[in-house]
Amino acid sequence: MEPIQGSVSIDAQNIMPIIKKWLYSDKDIFIREVVSNGCDAITKLRMVDSAAAANCSIHVEVDKAKKELRFTDDGVGMTADEVRTNINQVAFSGAKSFLEEYAKNEDQENAGIIGHFGLGFYSVFMVADKVTIDTLSFREGAEPVRWESEDGMAFTMTQGERTQRGTTITLRISEAEAEFLDLWRVREVLERYCSFMAVPIYLTEITEKKEDDVTVSGEDEGTAGEKKAEGEGADETGEEKKEEPKPINDTQPLYTRAPQDCTEEDYKQFYRRVFHEYEDPLFWIHLNVDYPFKLKGILYFPKLKEQFGGIEGQIKLYSGQVFVADNIKEVIPEFLMLLKGVIDCADFPLNVSRSFLQNDGYVRRISNHITKKVADRLTGMFKTERKTYEGFWPDIHPFIKYGVMRDEKFAERMKDCLLFKTTEGTYLTLEEYKERNGEKLPDKMVYTSDAARQDAAIRLFTERGIDVAVLDQAIDVNFVSYMEYSGDPQSKFRFCRVDAELDSLTSKEEQDAPQLDKDKLIALIREAAGKDDLNVEIKPLANESVPIMLIEDEQTRRFNDMGRIYGRNEFTMPAKYDVVLNSRSSTIAKLSEREKDERSLLLARQLFDLAELSRQPLEADQMTEFIRRSMEIVDLAAQM
Ligand code: ADP
Ligand code: MG
Repeated sequence: MEPIQGSVSIDAQNIMPIIKKWLYSDKDIFIREVVSNGCDAITKLRMVDSAAAANCSIHVEVDKAKKELRFTDDGVGMTADEVRTNINQVAFSGAKSFLEEYAKNEDQENAGIIGHFGLGFYSVFMVADKVTIDTLSFREGAEPVRWESEDGMAFTMTQGERTQRGTTITLRISEAEAEFLDLWRVREVLERYCSFMAVPIYLTEITEKKEDDVTVSGEDEGTAGEKKAEGEGADETGEEKKEEPKPINDTQPLYTRAPQDCTEEDYKQFYRRVFHEYEDPLFWIHLNVDYPFKLKGILYFPKLKEQFGGIEGQIKLYSGQVFVADNIKEVIPEFLMLLKGVIDCADFPLNVSRSFLQNDGYVRRISNHITKKVADRLTGMFKTERKTYEGFWPDIHPFIKYGVMRDEKFAERMKDCLLFKTTEGTYLTLEEYKERNGEKLPDKMVYTSDAARQDAAIRLFTERGIDVAVLDQAIDVNFVSYMEYSGDPQSKFRFCRVDAELDSLTSKEEQDAPQLDKDKLIALIREAAGKDDLNVEIKPLANESVPIMLIEDEQTRRFNDMGRIYGRNEFTMPAKYDVVLNSRSSTIAKLSEREKDERSLLLARQLFDLAELSRQPLEADQMTEFIRRSMEIVDLAAQM
């Protein structure tokens, strides 16, 4: 062919500087664009000649010496005409809308939309100061073509030398972007974007045979170590004998297979590999939808590691096996971000702008569908495998509670499958709890936020056959409030910590004990507590072995707990509590009989601290005093 010189399009003059500037933070994406084009070219070939396409692959070569990064595929290739329309004119056709979108998003970082406008290939100019396309079309009698450009604006087209079908894109990497000549950097990018692409991708480093070059190319320790290992391998096997090269990707990731063809071990392995996890997931959901949209994926429920705050999920979004982004909140409902998984929406554009995500009905439908699937799986398990569901509950409840609070539809679906674990280790739904305890404790669920510390108060209920729920995770503070206000507005049902209400702690059957000197006892406790205005009541508690309790107002305590969770201690309110002396306790009876002296004050102080202790940890100096006093009491007991 006659050499041609030209300019891509007038608009390209405006576009190239924008591409360079705009995608600055996301430069490595050019690798995805070029590799996915190669992949597309092979897919096209498969459609016209499946036999020829059977063993097609993509080769990425890092050539430090020449400062080149080369991408070769044996797909359909392009004729000169196709280069003209597909390469030279795409920028032209996409330019207008691209510029418009750019103007809207100028301030937003990473609002990448390049591929969406057919400018995917041009992203190579972010990193290359010269780009060459060598291509030969699969068509009979096609001539090889070479296209070259230094800036993406002016180009030349000449007769090429390629003899094999396919395309090689050669990027001469500019000085400033030398990182893309590092094998490990390129590998990292390929693994990020291309791990599931449908065509095998091979990565090789072109090194000159000189000893020096091999050592020079290793920069960090990992690189050097790996190089050495390869070198040793070669020594052992003698000559130049090379291992069978392995593609960097998995062309048939598990989620693309039919669920009935996947074993439990397959799922676990996939999880470990993709998320670099050592611990198995609890269970998973395999999504496989063809209509009304194409959606495939696997969502894993990880084991809970610490408290709620410690969960960090990761949902990777793919489009036709090409990685798009992590954790796109428009596609994956926010609460599902606590899970780990891969989602592939085949019709999803590779590059999407925020405004596209926010306004697109398609995106919302995907998101709703995913939520529904997750809820279906959970409610299904609850109905048919209740024991299994209960077994998972300690790990999944923060996630479910968070979802219920965040997403109305999810809440609607899950409302009958929320469990409350009791101190005895049984799991009850709200309805079951009401059924079992409603008679003794109407309109109320009692719970503990710390079963060890609140043991005395817990026993005041359990000994009367009342179930006490364990709600001891950070999220439970919000969750109980949510449960109260989200339910039927007429309902008087309340959640109440074991030490929050005096009425629940006394029972009708308990008889008040004989006459006590109430004034004396109240004065004594006030003196011991160092608070003149302390409200002290004397009441028969359900268990006679508990002499004293602090009753703390539920609402004030919740408010303060929330303040603590959000780290806003300056907003806490003064704790509001009353002291209850158990009129059935022999200790209290003895204190009442005794003339006030050193020892009764000693006992009163000890009693008050014990009551404080079951509410919260003692302050440092209070603790010191408590220990000192305990020793004194031990000594007194020893003298008896
Ligand atoms: P898109 O992939 O969205 O069409 P690109 O800018 O990435 O946009 O590519 C433009 C066009 O160039 C492609 O549609 C394709 O026709 C052609 N092309 C790019 N790379 C190759 C390749 N390796 N083999 C064959 N054709 C290619
Ligand atoms: Mg493309």
